[in-house]
Amino acid sequence: MSSGKKRIYLSSPHMSGHEMKYIEEAFRDNWIAPLGPNVDGFEKELAAYLGAKDVAALSSGSAAIHLALVLLDVQPGDYVIVQSFTFGATAFPVRYLGATPVFVDSEPGTWNMDPVLLEKAIIGISGEYARKHGDEETKRQRDKETKRKSRSPSVPQSLCHLIKAIIPVHLYGMPSNMDEILRIATKYGIPVIEDAAEALGSRYNGKMCGTFGKFGILSFNGNKIITTSGGGALVSDDEELISRARFLSTQARDPAPHYQHSQIGYNYRMSNIVAGIGRGQLEVIEERVTARRKIFEFYKSNLSDIKGVSFIDEPGQEYFSNRWLTTILIDPEITGCNREDVRIALEKENIETRPLWKPMHLQPVFRDCLAFVNGTSEDLFNKGLCLPSGSSLREEELSRVVKVLRRVFGEMA
Ligand SMILES: *Cc1c(COP(=O)(O)O)cnc(C)c1O
Repeated sequence: MSSGKKRIYLSSPHMSGHEMKYIEEAFRDNWIAPLGPNVDGFEKELAAYLGAKDVAALSSGSAAIHLALVLLDVQPGDYVIVQSFTFGATAFPVRYLGATPVFVDSEPGTWNMDPVLLEKAIIGISGEYARKHGDEETKRQRDKETKRKSRSPSVPQSLCHLIKAIIPVHLYGMPSNMDEILRIATKYGIPVIEDAAEALGSRYNGKMCGTFGKFGILSFNGNKIITTSGGGALVSDDEELISRARFLSTQARDPAPHYQHSQIGYNYRMSNIVAGIGRGQLEVIEERVTARRKIFEFYKSNLSDIKGVSFIDEPGQEYFSNRWLTTILIDPEITGCNREDVRIALEKENIETRPLWKPMHLQPVFRDCLAFVNGTSEDLFNKGLCLPSGSSLREEELSRVVKVLRRVFGEMA
């Protein structure tokens, strides 16, 4: 860009310096494969850090979501309820399996899945199913159900079985309202897959994000709070399911001297080199969380006096965000400029920012999908901007961002 100043990135990789030790060990012992001591070590260390029973290290967060859905037996025709306000990778694997995503909008307090809309979606999907398949089957299902003892008065349990999973996301590191989401999920007997790709180190009621659902998924892609260049993990307290995930992620080989398969497999395992980077990164995860939280505080204390600019606070004592990315909301009616004006002004100064995620229910690829919306995520998308938040950013760099922002908003420091 034209300013001649060094570029400030949104979220750069930040190595600890310990990664090479693990990688050199892998080279020394010739463990250059999607298995080996770093993979085993990384899985154990992650499980210990999270307080989870077991973890499978995989090639990406997307692979982890895909395998979670496979393990929940998601089939063509099934429904999966997905938080609309997220990155496409949360929803794409639902389509890999020929299932139908149904999108649920956010609550203003956390920006994550609105529990009230979630329950409406569960009831709504059952109605949609009844319309599609005629009254006969619905009546049959309902009769069958009343013979059993229903846990839910409003929806027959048998219809809930068409909804194979609920995927809330801890977006930008902010924990979802897990108490309410789990209460509703339990009421209707639907398993939860927590997308904690952006939330490693975030906690809800003191418990790590990624450990609440039947499954949790993590990502170690290039700009996440810790990175392995690319990678992911599947988390669960069900060791049987995690061992099935390892089996499926290494091409589902039956125990035989030749290659024999009774199931469809995937090449989704993390490599021993990549896992070495992960081990070096995991050693410093708490420092990274502290650094990102400090960056949030820096921006907030230097910008929150500007009228029409706001930050999302942790909505209560139970929420602890890793503050993966600091985000601001810009109210154009008060500031006189919109988020694109601000983004372009920063870009001219060689500062990278990014609009908030465009909700899935507004994405062309998902335009035919059912969605339960309240306008929250659309409004956030229109007003929100992610600021440079990498843990290696120096105070001079953060001050440069603040200075440009104050100039754009016409407020001199
Ligand atoms: C990064 C991300 C993913 C996908 O992870 P990959 O490792 O890139 O496949 C999924 N969900 C969310 C919310 C993410 O931010």
